[in-house]
Amino acid sequence: MQISVSELFKESIGSTRQYEIDETFDVGDGSYEVQGEIKLVRTGQGMLVKGTLRTEIEVTCGRCLSLFHCPLILNIEDEYFLTTDMVSGASLPLPEEPGYFTIDERYVLDLTEAIHQYIMLAIPMKPLCRESCAGICPTCGHNLNQGPCDCLPQKVDPRWSELNRLTLANDA
Ligand SMILES: [Zn+2]
Ligand SMILES: [Zn+2]
Repeated sequence: MQISVSELFKESIGSTRQYEIDETFDVGDGSYEVQGEIKLVRTGQGMLVKGTLRTEIEVTCGRCLSLFHCPLILNIEDEYFLTTDMVSGASLPLPEEPGYFTIDERYVLDLTEAIHQYIMLAIPMKPLCRESCAGICPTCGHNLNQGPCDCLPQKVDPRWSELNRLTLANDA
């Protein structure tokens, strides 16, 4: 996702542009369909990028181990800095703290790296296919979201179950 910002740089500080995003981002570990809207605000030495984007990833549920599509909301807010002065071609001073993004000499702002980082941060540590996911049976591995299995609630010593069966037969 690359945006040419040379036109916006000719405008005064505080000028804005709105962009609709509906793209596939190909990043290291996969590709993501990303939709939403972002706003660029021209600052002194760069662009403030703000917006909310949506995407989804396929992950494994931490409880029932099934694959499902997990929606992610990315609240973007970053400042991108020009590295080179537009007129003189001189290098511009950059923030001392790391973690900022840059706009290259062609005045292209590339959102790919930032969006990748936001996706990585938004992925839940222990994803659940649904809040009430029933998980799997520890005995037979059956996905309990698809209904109960034939196992007893707890693993019972087979000798006891034989005894239970005999007791029940006697009662009958
Ligand atoms: Zn689940
Ligand atoms: Zn079971």
